[in-house]
Amino acid sequence: MTQQGIFNHLIEQLMALPGVGRKSAQRFAFFILKMEPEAAKNIGRAIIDVKDRLAFCKICNNITEHEICNICTSPKRDTQKVVVIEEPSTLHIIERTGEYKGLYHILLGALAPLPGAKTCAPSIENLIERLEKGGIKEVIIATNPTIEGEATAIYLTRLIQPLGITVSRIAFGIPVGIDIEYADEVSLVKSLQGRREIDPL
Ligand SMILES: [Zn+2]
Repeated sequence: MTQQGIFNHLIEQLMALPGVGRKSAQRFAFFILKMEPEAAKNIGRAIIDVKDRLAFCKICNNITEHEICNICTSPKRDTQKVVVIEEPSTLHIIERTGEYKGLYHILLGALAPLPGAKTCAPSIENLIERLEKGGIKEVIIATNPTIEGEATAIYLTRLIQPLGITVSRIAFGIPVGIDIEYADEVSLVKSLQGRREIDPL
């Protein structure tokens, strides 16, 4: 590869990241070029480590070093309840509250209201398959209170209620439009406790 080719290759790779266009990618590439060699190499190693060692749990999409995550394999969890969330980061926030002992299902996104946008359809399929196996009595939908999160909640309710499973939505002490990630633990505990069963659609 030529000198210019090497540099362009880095720009192209950085553009694979969400929200990074050519301008930002060029800026990052120049920054990396100017960095201390060890610091720049650490970024590369961290990316390789994540891809070599971590994956999404085959059952719930939680981040795990094994095929199945330690929440799905724990004998201490209430296997009749599943909280549905958009991102793994929300799981950590709910776990920190120590109030919830059930299982999770992480969608890795939300339904996009605009055609062509990224959807979480495969993870919804996995959830339905999981519910059809039986044993789960309640699904608590904790998608974000955004347009996408609400659309996903309605869509899931329509799919899940016919299976004879209770569907509830967390109560929002969380301000509308704010991601669950930014909610404090107290409001999150209240949201879970104050969840309401969704009337059959
Ligand atoms: Zn899992």
